[in-house]
Amino acid sequence: MLNIVIFGAPGSGKGTQSEKIVEKYGINHISTGDVLRAEIKNGTELGKTAKSYIDQGQLIPDELMIDILASVFDSFQDSKGVIFDGFPRTIAQAEALKKMLAERKQSVSVMLDLDVPEEELMVRLIKRGKDSGRADDNEETIKKRLAVYHSQTSPLIDWYKKEGQYQHIKGLGKLEEIFADVCTAINSSVVSSK
Ligand code: AMP
Repeated sequence: MLNIVIFGAPGSGKGTQSEKIVEKYGINHISTGDVLRAEIKNGTELGKTAKSYIDQGQLIPDELMIDILASVFDSFQDSKGVIFDGFPRTIAQAEALKKMLAERKQSVSVMLDLDVPEEELMVRLIKRGKDSGRADDNEETIKKRLAVYHSQTSPLIDWYKKEGQYQHIKGLGKLEEIFADVCTAINSSVVSSK
């Protein structure tokens, strides 16, 4: 199975690249942000809890996120693999993902780090907020989310380097060029795991 972690700061293009990966490799997609936004839209208890964190630009507590992830993962039937988009965002989540996959005799094949300069992230997110109306894409919340990324999420770069699963991707440039680099990284991970 091809299990890909797509990683990067908010606005780095994880969602866009994930869609293209899903189309090319025929794997399932888990976007934890999309799962939470669907819960909010449906007015569930989980959605209410999630909204209070998302609106503040904060992360949802690890235990809750890990439970959600495992239940979505287990809902896939005859899966060829999964792309994890927006998860893990903390070391505790990365450890939980490793354990969850190991319990199912699987592992992460590759972690793709979409690296985009901070000024560009800000421009992209403000534009996305105007186009899509996503409530947390406003300047104040974006700043908080980027701060959370630096303090809680970016330590995962070293964590995945130690696991030997890290691949750096230059996330600035033409979408198709970035996708070509993404595919090269995925294909080399498949070869090296054989
Ligand atoms: P995203 O769509 O991935 O940018 O996620 C939007 C928001 O959902 C984040 O700012 C967090 O508040 C929350 N969220 C998404 N994924 C996670 C996660 N793995 N852990 C904690 N919070 C998350």
